[in-house]
Amino acid sequence: MHSTAFAASCRARCVLRPAPSRLTTRDPDATLGPVSSSSILEVRGLTKTYPNGSGTLTVLKDISFSIVAGSTCAIVGPSGSGKTTLLGLCAGLDQPTAGEVRLDGQDLGVLDEDGRARLRNERVGFVFQNFQLIPALTALENVMVPLELRGQRQVREAGVELLRRVGLGERLSHYPAQLSGGEQQRVALARAFSNQPKILFADEPTGNLDAETGHQIIENLFALNAGAGTTLVLVTHDAELAQRTGRVVQLKGGMMLTPAS
Ligand code: ADP
Ligand code: MG
Repeated sequence: MHSTAFAASCRARCVLRPAPSRLTTRDPDATLGPVSSSSILEVRGLTKTYPNGSGTLTVLKDISFSIVAGSTCAIVGPSGSGKTTLLGLCAGLDQPTAGEVRLDGQDLGVLDEDGRARLRNERVGFVFQNFQLIPALTALENVMVPLELRGQRQVREAGVELLRRVGLGERLSHYPAQLSGGEQQRVALARAFSNQPKILFADEPTGNLDAETGHQIIENLFALNAGAGTTLVLVTHDAELAQRTGRVVQLKGGMMLTPAS
C-alpha cells in the first residue's frame, strides 16, 4: 500500500476508554461530563434485545466505549457476536433497547428518524458487505446521490474525481450489474466518502470478495481515509487487517472482551 497513507492511518490511534458515569438526561444540549471533546463516538451501556417467543434475545449487552476523532479501529468477533448490530446502532441506522450513542456530540436517542437520516447524510459514511448500490443508477449517479441530498454544487465534478481516485474513471456510466464485485465496492467507497463524513463505518467490506480483490479494496479504503482524515470503524474477520488499525475491539456473544485502555 502507499506507505505514507498507511503511516498516517496508523498514527491516528483509536482510543477506547472506560465510559464515565451514566447520563441521567436525554437533553440534546446536555454535556457529557468528563469526556474529552475529541471523542467523536461515545457509547454508553448499549444493549439491544429482540423479542424471542415468550422471552427476549439479547444480542448486545452493556457495551461502553468512546473513540477519538481521526482514529482507526477494528471490531472483530465470531459470526453472530453482534458486530453488525453495534455498527448499525453507532451509525443511527437502528435504535438501542437501552443505553446511549453520542455521535459527533449529538445524542442519537433524542432524534427522530428524519433527524438521524439528516445526521447520517451530513456526518456519516457507511460501507456494507453487499455494496448496496442503487441498481438503476450509474456508478457516477450512485456517488452523486449523497452530494445532491446535501444540495452541494458541482456534484458531477466531485463524483468523477472520487471515482477516478478509486481507479474507476473509465466506468462512470456503468450500472452496478455491469461492474465486478470489486468495482461495485469501489463505487460504494467513493459514495461513502462523497459527503466528506467525519466518521466512516465499514461492515466487512471485503466479505463478498476474493482475497486479491479484497486487498485492493482495503488499500483504496485506507488511502481515501488517510486523505480525508476520517475516523474509521471497520468490522472485519481478517486479523492482519485488524492489526493495521489503531485498536482492535473484540465482541463475543454480544459482550465486549477488549479491555478499555
Ligand atoms: P455479526 O455481525 O457479528 O455476525 P449480528 O449483529 O448480525 O452479528 O447479529 C447478532 C445476533 O443478533 C445474531 O444472533 C442475530 O441472529 C441476531 N439478530 C440480528 N438482527 C436481528 C433481528 N432483526 N431480529 C432478531 N435477531 C436479530
Ligand atoms: Mg455482520
